[in-house]
Amino acid sequence: MKVLLIYPYPRHNTIPDPYWLPLGLSFLAAFLKDKGHTVSIFDRYSSQASIGLEKEKINAAMLSHIREFQPDLIGLNTVSPLIYDTVECVELIRQVYSGLMVAGGHHTTALPELTLSRLPGLDGVVVGEGETALAALAAGKAPTSVPGVWWRNGDGSFNHTAAVQIEDLDSLPFPALDLMDMKFYTLPGRRVFRGYYLTSVSMLTSRGCVRKCDFCSESLTYGKGVRFHSVDYVMEWLERVLCDYKVEGVYFHDNDFLIDENRARQICERILASGLNKKIKWGIQARAERINRDTLKLLRRSGCVLIEIGVESSLQKQLDSVKKGVTVTANEKAIALCRREGISVHANFITGFEGEGILDLEEKLGWLKRTKPSTFAWFPLQVYPGTQLYNRSGGSFFEKNEWTEDNIREYYSRNPVSSITKAQREDWMKQHYTPYLKRKNRLHILRVNPPLKLAPFVVKKIKRTAGKLLNNKKEVSV
Ligand code: SF4
Repeated sequence: MKVLLIYPYPRHNTIPDPYWLPLGLSFLAAFLKDKGHTVSIFDRYSSQASIGLEKEKINAAMLSHIREFQPDLIGLNTVSPLIYDTVECVELIRQVYSGLMVAGGHHTTALPELTLSRLPGLDGVVVGEGETALAALAAGKAPTSVPGVWWRNGDGSFNHTAAVQIEDLDSLPFPALDLMDMKFYTLPGRRVFRGYYLTSVSMLTSRGCVRKCDFCSESLTYGKGVRFHSVDYVMEWLERVLCDYKVEGVYFHDNDFLIDENRARQICERILASGLNKKIKWGIQARAERINRDTLKLLRRSGCVLIEIGVESSLQKQLDSVKKGVTVTANEKAIALCRREGISVHANFITGFEGEGILDLEEKLGWLKRTKPSTFAWFPLQVYPGTQLYNRSGGSFFEKNEWTEDNIREYYSRNPVSSITKAQREDWMKQHYTPYLKRKNRLHILRVNPPLKLAPFVVKKIKRTAGKLLNNKKEVSV
């Protein structure tokens, strides 16, 4: 069977920098290829770099790809903040294609029945991990017998079966990166490594999380607990990736790379033994309470230059309110340890907690100035369907509203639980947060990159600024 997988399009004003690879889709593609299917990926995100920013052009290219490739099955990846893009894609695709079409991913897992009702062009949706369900559908199995599938019956009713987890992650072939636009994803950039100007690829060596923070959708898609690829699998994949793509960095975006300390240490030792520590820089995400001096020393020796921590807040009441399961002191200690051991530490923060006011924002910024992580970023709290926070805060946006771009973008830009308005927050951020963030980032970039590395970045920045100035001038003269 010919299977086409589609990755959604987030609207950008400028060509986006490369970021994490869509590994979920690449794992799916590899699994289907392994079962003998012909697979293609249309990545609407990276298409912005090759086709242009206009959605109409990307849509036209997608439809012409469908006409040319003539798939027997189309699978669309869904995420809630971009569900409007899936809605539009399904409607467009149905104008030129009458074969099987399903959607999978976080959004369908959270709202399977509603997604099927709202998107009449879909035959079914897949919940949880997609590999086995999609392969069974591609093999022509009756959808009603495939685990993890909601299917539309002829009379408009739905059939559904429970999802099953993949027990042995090593049974999965390495992701089919050859189907992605790797020229784009391996462009040099400073986004993935938080200021390090590197070409890089991302890897994922585990699935799931043992925690259940109120705002997080991880356990919804991946079920209970964490499953790991073996150290052998990770090393073989790493060596293959580095052989196929001449990159300077590898970013492991596991939720918590250190969750199994013994396994993490084995990976470090194997990297050291293979000499890869001299060839690449690498980075990880980890929870603060797992960070200790011994592991940090080993991480550093084996080439790890960056650890990202989901600090979320410097207020214990906020951490507790979303069941983060960590203390402010543990976050402070982890940041101090990383600094002492010479590993860059990036702190991810959330703003917009329930009842959060301006004084809370001031306290958070003060904490960052005192604690001094190498870099940091604040993200507004996003309330995803299927999470405990969604249910607690009313849990009805997707049920009550149309899934249009305007509605969804408005929902994810406002904060449904904080007590300050969007305008107040933006104003405060502009005055206090942004100037500090910019200063900090510039200093970090200068500190971690040799001057020659910075040259293309400086040229790009000058071009962008000149472009903006020119545009402003044109607008003024008009
Ligand atoms: S936010 Fe991080 S620690 Fe919490 S449940 Fe999600 S992945 Fe796990």
